[in-house]
Amino acid sequence: MHEWSIAYSVVKTLTENFNKRISKVTLVIPLFSFLDVGILKEAFNELKKENPIVENAELEVKIQEPSFRCRNCNREFKFSDIQQQVGEVKNSYGEEYPLHLMPELFPAFIKCPYCGSHDIEAIGQEIYIEKVEEYGAVERVS
Ligand SMILES: [Zn+2]
Repeated sequence: MHEWSIAYSVVKTLTENFNKRISKVTLVIPLFSFLDVGILKEAFNELKKENPIVENAELEVKIQEPSFRCRNCNREFKFSDIQQQVGEVKNSYGEEYPLHLMPELFPAFIKCPYCGSHDIEAIGQEIYIEKVEEYGAVERVS
C-alpha cells in the first residue's frame, strides 16, 4: 500500500539524517493524496520499532490544501477560491465526482477565477517532513 511506502521513506529519512532520538515528526500531505492517515500512522508505528532513533517518535500528519497556478495569466489561487466550482462539479456527478478519483483532471473541470482559462496546474502537491523534534532539544535552547 502507498501509506506503507511513505511511512518507510519517513523512517528512512529520519534514521539517515538524525543521530539523536526523535520524539515527534510532523508530516505534511496534500489533500488530494487521499492517503489514509490511520494506516499511515499504523505503518509508521510498526516500522519505527526497527530503529532506536525513531522507536519513540510520534507521527503527526497535517493535511494541506493545494494551490493552483494559471499558465495563462500567471496568477496563483487557493483551493478555497475555486471551492464553488468544485461544488458544482460535485453536484453534477454525485459523490463519485471525477476530481476525487483523479486530481490531474482538475484543469478539465476547473477554470482560473481571474481569466477563465483551463490551463491551470496544481502546486504544493508534494509530501514533506515539516518538523522534527528531538529528545533533549529543549534543554539545548536554554
Ligand atoms: Zn488565469
